Amino acid sequence: MAGAGDAFRRRRARALDGPLLLPLALGAAAERALLASGRLVPTVSLWAVRPRRFARDFAAELEASPRIRVLLGAQAIGLVERGEGGRVAAVRLRTLEGCDLEARARAFVLACGGLENARLLLLSTDRRPEGLGNASGLVGRCFMDHPRAVWGRVELVPGARLHLLRGRPVPNGKVQLGLAVAPAIRADRGLLHHYLTLESEHSSYAREQYDVAVQLAKRLLRRGHAGGRLELRGVLAGRTPDLLYLLTPKEILPHWAYRLLWELHERLPRRSRSERLVLVHFCEQPLDPDSRVTLSERCDPLGVPMLRLDWRIQPEVVRSMEALCTLLGEELARTGLGRLLPAEEEPRFTDASHHMGTTRMGTDPRTSVVDPWGRVHGVANLWIAGSSIFPSGGHANPTLTIVALALRQARRIASSVGAG
Ligand SMILES: Cc1cc2nc3c(=O)[nH]c(=O)nc-3n(C[C@H](O)[C@H](O)[C@H](O)COP(=O)(O)OP(=O)(O)OC[C@H]3O[C@@H](n4cnc5c(N)ncnc54)[C@H](O)[C@@H]3O)c2cc1C
Repeated sequence: MAGAGDAFRRRRARALDGPLLLPLALGAAAERALLASGRLVPTVSLWAVRPRRFARDFAAELEASPRIRVLLGAQAIGLVERGEGGRVAAVRLRTLEGCDLEARARAFVLACGGLENARLLLLSTDRRPEGLGNASGLVGRCFMDHPRAVWGRVELVPGARLHLLRGRPVPNGKVQLGLAVAPAIRADRGLLHHYLTLESEHSSYAREQYDVAVQLAKRLLRRGHAGGRLELRGVLAGRTPDLLYLLTPKEILPHWAYRLLWELHERLPRRSRSERLVLVHFCEQPLDPDSRVTLSERCDPLGVPMLRLDWRIQPEVVRSMEALCTLLGEELARTGLGRLLPAEEEPRFTDASHHMGTTRMGTDPRTSVVDPWGRVHGVANLWIAGSSIFPSGGHANPTLTIVALALRQARRIASSVGAG
């Protein structure tokens, strides 16, 4: 797929040129002061206005390719081993009309996402009741996400401006600095990778509503292979105006209008009173085999068992969050920019839709599911691509790493099946 890859790189380069450099160079004196001691380091997040639609952007190239055939409307429901085992002979497919098919090939790559990759191995029990590639019992274990919590607040002195830490709109989206503990301190204290961003605080009630809005958006999006999962329970119609208020302006106004308002707002003289910001944390998780997915008794509309998720959040996560908050408080005091306010409650976590670790990579089949190239231990022609093969999760969004690993794997797979 070299053509599609090249097109992707060209468009991405256009999208990121210029606009990023400008805000980084402008008016970041407060951020520079906060980072001057070297105890905190910046992280950079880029948020795009629009998601990439693969069908729209790549359908023509895929159709034109003599080497690619795209089949739509059928779901993989397991892998077939025949003969002695140790090789996959076919992938079993089922359509919503109830038609069962098999697709045969020399090599197979599961790239169905961080949960579904594990599900398909667990469903493939032709030769092994524990599931394909599951001799170690590790398929589905060590599930990780990036626990996200709105936890802790800071109060800035009147007039203090944190342009980049608050996030700044750029033509194609938003760029936002975050803060993390410097690597040497993290290693010394045994902390996890973790960063936080600063957001405006409206009130604790508004914070709750923001969490409700995030959950609602996730539920609305969750329709697909696992069947309709739209649940409106827990969302009170009477609170809809609050949700609209919280999602305005950046999610509702056109992006150009949001940018204009933001620039005007930044140029207005600051209010003379101090401003409060909430801390939004994104954390790594330590390895935990009890954090896992298993097959449940419930089936999807195709009659195939769904997954049950037991996601654990370990005490080390909270310890790392506390350590970063303490450092931030000390740096705010040192620079005279503000102060950390005492946390009023325990953190409440949501996920970040980053599903990792369920078919982890390693050299030892006793402690991993795939080898360093993503090939399933003990299965000669089956590879796995995606964040399910991550042996650890870090704190950064996973998709660029997924793409980098996939490019590396693609070359290896092509040479191993003689299609280079
Ligand atoms: C709301 C949201 C926001 C996100 N934001 C970010 C972000 O800002 N940055 C970031 O890095 N990541 C983000 N992510 C995570 C990102 O979407 C994933 O890391 C990425 O999509 C994983 O890519 P993938 O190709 O491995 O899996 P997927 O994108 O999940 O693709 C898997 C494909 O396989 C198909 N499939 C699944 N099961 C089957 C089956 N049984 N048979 C046939 N087909 C199947 C699916 O339909 C899908 O097309 C976000 C996720 C969500 C939900």
